[in-house]
Amino acid sequence: MYKKRYLTLSHFLHRQFGCRVYKIPVNAGFTCPNRDGTVGTGGCTFCYNPSFSPVADTPAKSIREQILEYKTRLSHRKRQAKYLAYFQSYTNTYAPPNVLRSLYREALSVPDVVGLCIGTRPDCVPNPVLNVIEEYARDHHVWLEYGLQSIHNKTLRLINRGHTAEDFLDAVSRTKGRGIYICAHVILGLPGETLQDMLTTARALNDVGVDGVKIHHLQIIRHTKIAEDYLAGKNIDTLSVDEYVHLVCTFLEHLSPEIVIHRLCGEVLAGEMLLAPVWNLPKTDIINKIDKELNRRGSYQGSRVNP
Ligand code: SF4
Repeated sequence: MYKKRYLTLSHFLHRQFGCRVYKIPVNAGFTCPNRDGTVGTGGCTFCYNPSFSPVADTPAKSIREQILEYKTRLSHRKRQAKYLAYFQSYTNTYAPPNVLRSLYREALSVPDVVGLCIGTRPDCVPNPVLNVIEEYARDHHVWLEYGLQSIHNKTLRLINRGHTAEDFLDAVSRTKGRGIYICAHVILGLPGETLQDMLTTARALNDVGVDGVKIHHLQIIRHTKIAEDYLAGKNIDTLSVDEYVHLVCTFLEHLSPEIVIHRLCGEVLAGEMLLAPVWNLPKTDIINKIDKELNRRGSYQGSRVNP
């Protein structure tokens, strides 16, 4: 019986495929227009890809080799499993359509890979690129994951996203109706944002009709612009684990119950890459705290969505 008070990706995929479905991160060698000078050079202020992508620094190996290696590592866990190839590092639609077509095709040629998750920016999905993704979505399970972080342009400017909320709304409206699942990434606890600002983001995601949300907490990670500011003594607040648990539960309560939850907190980094907040807790403990808090409240995803 399904016991969670929110709709997890693993449950959603299990319902569709009847077995466990793993995401396998791959690095297709992309860069990002917010780093190479096309949109900007410094990147988003919080971003250091190696901190959240286990393959960000993967030496050149083919997509197929990367997936096969990862599958081998997972093979002890379950006999019957399927896989989604997760194009994770940087901006995975940032190439001409024919190049993208061949990379996605290579991933889908690996046995038991039933679909794709493609991480990208809302300003990097021209219609010819969406046409390619739509082709694959006809016969496969395909998620397009848009980095958004916040629906507020003042915040997007502050964190140097290099795109606007309107770019996101436009990308989503051009993606809808193509059989592609749409996921938005958000960060809770961004500088200057109030609880009401974050709940406005939740409501905007409901209104625009995304299919999934990946929720992170703000982490200050070395080699980022926000870390420079933090180390220089600028006042940048981060959340305690209890503050975050309260916040994410309230966020979930305001999110449509139809939206699939891909993630509930940022990768909980340890070691010297993470400057703050240092929680010293494994991710499972944080998820348990979130589950407990929703139980304590007697609430669930969508319980405070206005009809
Ligand atoms: S978060 Fe994404 S869009 Fe921003 S700099 Fe990093 S790779 Fe580029």
